[in-house]
Amino acid sequence: EALNKILDIKGSIRVFCRVRPFLLMDRIRTRQPISTGSEKIVVRSGGTRKEFEMDKVFPQEVSQEDVFVEVEPILRSALDGHNVCVFAYGQTGTGKTFTMDGTNEQPGIAPRALKELFHQASLEGTSSLTFSMSMLEVYMGSLRDLLAPRPTSRAYTVTRCNLNIQTDPKGLVEIEGLTEVQIPDYAKARWWYNRGRRARSTSWTNVNEASSRSHCLTRITIFRRGDDSEAKPEVSKLWMVDLGGSERLLKTGASGLTLDEGRAINLSLSALGDVVAALRRKRGHVPYRNSKLTQILKDSLGDSSKVLMLVHVSPFEEDVGETICSLCFAKRAR
Ligand code: ADP
Ligand code: MG
Repeated sequence: EALNKILDIKGSIRVFCRVRPFLLMDRIRTRQPISTGSEKIVVRSGGTRKEFEMDKVFPQEVSQEDVFVEVEPILRSALDGHNVCVFAYGQTGTGKTFTMDGTNEQPGIAPRALKELFHQASLEGTSSLTFSMSMLEVYMGSLRDLLAPRPTSRAYTVTRCNLNIQTDPKGLVEIEGLTEVQIPDYAKARWWYNRGRRARSTSWTNVNEASSRSHCLTRITIFRRGDDSEAKPEVSKLWMVDLGGSERLLKTGASGLTLDEGRAINLSLSALGDVVAALRRKRGHVPYRNSKLTQILKDSLGDSSKVLMLVHVSPFEEDVGETICSLCFAKRAR
């Protein structure tokens, strides 16, 4: 309650930053002088010092649990009828997928969110809350259904699955033909989620390449029925989005991205930044039309929605340019 009130006062867009820890495999790399406060991050490079304010900064040592505690109030507002979008943003390798999915030992936001939804539903008693799930991948302007009954062909070049995005007269977005499965319990939800994640990576020869070149979107639709079983349920959506790598075009050549792929990701991320910045300024015109990503999210990224941008940064000296770019993106959204 109190937390929700604070959220309302502070507006509906939150920007958090998470710094990836050093891992065993990083021994030979040079650390970057980053220092963090609870709401700020300072980057030093070549004699300059840049400071960025965030709603929350997670230093390297935070656990998945610590992160979820901060994310939970925003997820809860989806149960209160708000549309919610949670984005993992950042350069490839900075921990976006780790934050969203995690591992079996250290589960991330998505499995914890699913668990929490079913927990709330069980508290509310007989089926007043029900959920369904869809998952899709956006790659160079094409949409691919990750929960389609028959796995689609291995390569995009064969199946450029172009699901159509329609907007109905009420402004609701409809993705034609997108599979939507009922998720009656947590186990089934996890099963479908894992299936979707696998479908994303198996279309590629290299898993890392797959995730750096495309956006992966998971939509949980929440139906709330009151006592009157005849009445239409109240519907809200929770989106969890693992965005494509934000590395800039100049460097993408080095990481194996083609120019077109890099450009497509860059365009859609800047379109997303523009939409969030417009929502932040509360200006009339919000430029949803500039990318497939923002068209898909149009009815979930609006005045009454909650947005959480989780910006991930690298702890390495060599990435300092990318780190500053990501923090500038964060600053603009805030
Ligand atoms: P991205 O999705 O942004 O490309 P990943 O989530 O794949 O990055 O992370 C890159 C590597 O770093 C993976 O091996 C991942 O398990 C590891 N990693 C990222 N963040 C953390 C963390 N907070 N704790 C432990 N390992 C992490
Ligand atoms: Mg990833």
